[in-house]
Amino acid sequence: MIRKTPIRVLFSAGDAAWPEYIAALPPAFTAQGLLVDLSRKHAPKTVDYIIAAPNGPIQNFKPFTRCKAVLNLWAGVEDIATNKTLTQPLARMVDPGLTEGMVEWVIGHTMRHHLGIDDHINGQDGIWRNAFPPLAQHRPVTILGLGALGAACARMLTNLGFPVTGWSRSQKDIANVICLSGNDRLRDSLKDAQIVILLLPLTDATTNIMNIERLALLADGAFIINPGRGPLINDDALLNALDQNIAHATLDVFRTEPLPKKHFFWAHPKVTVTPHIASTTRAGTASLCIAENIRRGEDGLPFLHLVDRSEGY
Ligand code: NAP
Repeated sequence: MIRKTPIRVLFSAGDAAWPEYIAALPPAFTAQGLLVDLSRKHAPKTVDYIIAAPNGPIQNFKPFTRCKAVLNLWAGVEDIATNKTLTQPLARMVDPGLTEGMVEWVIGHTMRHHLGIDDHINGQDGIWRNAFPPLAQHRPVTILGLGALGAACARMLTNLGFPVTGWSRSQKDIANVICLSGNDRLRDSLKDAQIVILLLPLTDATTNIMNIERLALLADGAFIINPGRGPLINDDALLNALDQNIAHATLDVFRTEPLPKKHFFWAHPKVTVTPHIASTTRAGTASLCIAENIRRGEDGLPFLHLVDRSEGY
């Protein structure tokens, strides 16, 4: 049933995002039975919900005195969760389109390393390199982070036959995945892994989690794939490990983005840089999630995917 008083929703993201969201959000609101006045310009005191990108125009949330929730457009919340003016409930983005994109990116880069595709692309030099890669079932993969993205990647990797170990803060139960949890199981998660994928959020507890000791736990010739956040890896430790046991690092995220032109990662023969393109929120599917959360707010139900400020994600 359509409500009589419009809910005032403020959209706070870069100009480029507006055209696709102004197309996708209204039908999503209607599908949830919501009458919404969506704008980029509502007066702060009149706003019921804010849809926000962490780098959007609104950085001071204090004037939004009646705002019931801030709905983040990104999965990563480290920049917005630490904003001291934001005291309203904050929900992070869990979007099937974003998840699908991340699974595709992770599988693509995992298969590149697993199959040794580079040897053949780069080695068009008349040498018949006919060594066979092992089957996936003989290539242990570890995923740090079993949230929306990590769990979906873990499922797809097990479907392909990889033995997958996943690590998270709370204990999970995912079919065919060895699920470990808590700091005391991190070592077991990493020991002898041949491919490690980082899908942790950036928090105080996860910054530099891949340090020199932990990188040394991986198998000789291991690959590390980081679509999580740059500071999850200590860069100097990685540089060192690339001379030891790590065969290659594929990095999508960095401490400074865009990665400065002179950064050593660009030229390192064992590093692949991708420009933070592992995945992105897709307006079509994300709008459905946003509308569902607003409907829940209006019905007095708990918001989905609330950020725990004390944990930072
Ligand atoms: P999520 O659902 O919040 O999952 C985070 C996972 O990390 C959870 O399993 C959580 O454990 C675990 N975790 C957090 N802190 C931990 C700790 N101290 N020790 C052990 N495990 C810990 O997040 P998501 O949606 O999967 O996204 C993960 C990250 O991917 C985002 O934060 C963002 O930084 C990154 N990302 C990157 C791109 C890109 O294009 N490169 C795109 C989207 C997202 P619990 O389950 O027990 O809470």
